Amino acid sequence: MARENIDLLLVTPGPNLRYLSGYKAKNLERLTCLVIDSNQSLKMIVPSLEKLSAEKADVQELGIEIVTWNEDENPYEKLSEISTGKQISLDGSMNAAKVLNIQHQFDGSIFSNADQLLSDLRSRKSAYEISQLELAGKYIDEVHSQIVEIFELGDTEKSLAKKIHNLIVEVGHDSVDFVIVASGINSASPHHEPTDKKILSGDVLLIDIGGTTPSGYCSDCTRMYCVGRIDSEFKNKYEILRQAQESAVSEVSTKITAAGLDSVARTYLEKHNLGEYFIHRTGHGIGLETHEEPYIVSTNEKFLEDGQAFSIEPGFYIENQFGARIEDIVVKNGEDTLICNKNTKDIVVI
Ligand code: ZN
Ligand code: ZN
Repeated sequence: MARENIDLLLVTPGPNLRYLSGYKAKNLERLTCLVIDSNQSLKMIVPSLEKLSAEKADVQELGIEIVTWNEDENPYEKLSEISTGKQISLDGSMNAAKVLNIQHQFDGSIFSNADQLLSDLRSRKSAYEISQLELAGKYIDEVHSQIVEIFELGDTEKSLAKKIHNLIVEVGHDSVDFVIVASGINSASPHHEPTDKKILSGDVLLIDIGGTTPSGYCSDCTRMYCVGRIDSEFKNKYEILRQAQESAVSEVSTKITAAGLDSVARTYLEKHNLGEYFIHRTGHGIGLETHEEPYIVSTNEKFLEDGQAFSIEPGFYIENQFGARIEDIVVKNGEDTLICNKNTKDIVVI
């Protein structure tokens, strides 16, 4: 904050608040706000009815003083009573109503978006965070290992997605973030929503799934399946994709930029005539959110840093035919690159 000349940092419920305080606060219309000023004073404005929840999250152990407000009080006036600042930085996920109320209350101050400041911190994971991402990887691997058993001929994308949904929670996640089940030509749509389409013999099946662990860390993994048999043209293209994905994983280092890493997978696919079908970035950071910094994209010229965790997920999507993606979460951890997803990358026949 001192480096950026920020006098006051205000953070409302969401991943930033959870990261800084450990408190998974409800994002209500009532104001809950972590208040950090340049004197390193830490306070949290909390509605009276949420006081016990905040205390239960042990925020006081971090030296955060809880300041409550009652239903007949204006929390924004209270905020201006306990803090001042000319340069005020706001959590980027704060909703507009709260931003406008704060701007009104701190008339004359200069406001900025705190996202860059916070994502610089959040993108470099601690040993604890890395252990939680490894656990998340273990959970989602377990779900992928059970697809063979839970799939039944006659399943639609939706009915299989429902079974996967239940399994994501059963294996240890707290909640389900997304379930992509894309069969046959639907696999050519990267973010396909499961439909009533029956999964047929001979179909390619793309399954990309993720959930959040009780500690708040996200899993995200894509594997490919084929029903009954593997089409030889698909297999040839898939093997190229697999080499592209594995070569990108092997190039992870603090000596390469995110753009450079994106180019490893992209150049390989281009060389094998699949470049035009790789229509998205190579990956995204992951942590308390499924998508966060660093983004592994051709426009990100920043070097990768120690502690960063991100997906490597090249794919190809050929309309009206089929598509494929292989996705692992990796963490740069000192000399090592940890790979959080350990299931086979062979196409699994179900
Ligand atoms: Zn992903
Ligand atoms: Zn994914």
